[in-house]
Amino acid sequence: MSSFTPNGLIVAHHGISVEVLFDSGTRRMVRVKRNSGHVVGDSVVVTGEVLKRLPRRTELLRRDARGGIHLVAANLDVLGIVVAPLSPGGFIDRAIVAARSADLEPFLVVNKCDLDGTAELLSALKNVYGGSLPIFPISAVLRSGFGPLEQFLSEGHRGAFVGTTGVGKSSLLNVLCPEIDLKVGSVSEYKSMGRHTTTVSTLHALAGGGELVDTPGFRDFGMVDISVEELAEYYPGFEDHRDAACRFRNCRHSSEPGCAVLELVQQGRIPAERYTTYMELLQEVESQQAAARSRDWKN
Ligand code: GDP
Ligand code: ZN
Repeated sequence: MSSFTPNGLIVAHHGISVEVLFDSGTRRMVRVKRNSGHVVGDSVVVTGEVLKRLPRRTELLRRDARGGIHLVAANLDVLGIVVAPLSPGGFIDRAIVAARSADLEPFLVVNKCDLDGTAELLSALKNVYGGSLPIFPISAVLRSGFGPLEQFLSEGHRGAFVGTTGVGKSSLLNVLCPEIDLKVGSVSEYKSMGRHTTTVSTLHALAGGGELVDTPGFRDFGMVDISVEELAEYYPGFEDHRDAACRFRNCRHSSEPGCAVLELVQQGRIPAERYTTYMELLQEVESQQAAARSRDWKN
């Protein structure tokens, strides 16, 4: 490798070509094979039309409806979980566990704080998650509350947002990064169209520091499935007790004898709500794994 070969960062992926931003500030399109395995966020060394990918710090994966696993972005540091009033439950806990298993620091963005009833939602969320991760209340429509979020992103280097459809991820990205210029609202039309066109993933530098990756296919889909082990290790509310010594090393904290987590729940040191939700997620994860095993078995 010549020492004059410039280092680059993949800032857009168009399916058959990627856009590389070089350390010098110049940009160039480089052709790639359709399934070359390069993603936005990859650091590369470019020689002519040949891309050499440098080792990744982190990988963010998602699973599609048919069970296939896709790499979404490389080298992210933080993952923003976006919620709004009436967001379905369970999403936050799953997303936190998935982020932590991928070595990303999760944070919570509570959007639509201009709506009635947000104060209750916010205090409930602070109660449950305040000790586990940073929470940023904002209103994308009013463009308010963005200061602390922008400050955090500038310290967090590179991030992406996840959240269910309609929580305002496009609106939020448009405020943080006007050059993205995403369509807001018109969900069905825009999103069904997106399925037939090549999904363009992009990486954007924020004016105040930090970077955001936008991957349309990922914004409203789920992350890759989490395992029972990951759930038990990263579940929000259990993290202060990670050193608690259960009798069995691979304890699921369900009904095992000598479970230290169960004891903490009985002592009231882990809130009952946290434990009930954990058990629901555990059942979900276990039945998903059983389904995946029988799929693999048949194939
Ligand atoms: P996405 O599906 O998560 O990308 O959500 P969108 O950004 O497309 O927004 C969905 C709907 O929520 C749109 O009608 C937005 O105008 C609305 N919306 C987004 N942010 C806010 C907000 O801060 N307050 C209120 N009241 N509505 C919002
Ligand atoms: Zn246990």
